[in-house]
Amino acid sequence: MADENIIVANPFHTAKLKPKRKGKKPPKLLAVVHQSGCTGCEVCIAGCPVDSIELVPGPNPNNPGFQQTVEIDLERCIGCQNCSQDCPWDTITMYEHNDAFTAWGPETLYSNLYISEKKLDDLNEEYGIKEEEPEKIEA
Ligand code: SF4
Ligand code: SF4
Repeated sequence: MADENIIVANPFHTAKLKPKRKGKKPPKLLAVVHQSGCTGCEVCIAGCPVDSIELVPGPNPNNPGFQQTVEIDLERCIGCQNCSQDCPWDTITMYEHNDAFTAWGPETLYSNLYISEKKLDDLNEEYGIKEEEPEKIEA
């Protein structure tokens, strides 16, 4: 049964088509956007060397730029700190790698990169993708 409270990576996001982070070791730091302070100005996007900052469109599909915000793909961020230094509203914080995943929850209001299991189920259904039945083993 899909859980509304379990967050998973969204396999359908276009960020999945971008190059993966290089290197075996995870970065020491990761950036997290405090979305309640984000104006959606896009300044941070321009300075990210690995294009790991994604726009989150506003609620009106006819005017997605209105009330847009941004989020950071934690799987691709290299922790360079450009965005936290560039943001005119000081609304991006660098966290130690593991702490970033804890901070992400309370700081994130809207995400398309990371979604609930329930939402993933809905998307799978929308795109006609069926979960494979577990293999039955004859006794
Ligand atoms: S810390 Fe660097 S790599 Fe990570 S999102 Fe910010 S600009 Fe991009
Ligand atoms: S620079 Fe700051 S305010 Fe502007 S979109 Fe990025 S996080 Fe939001």
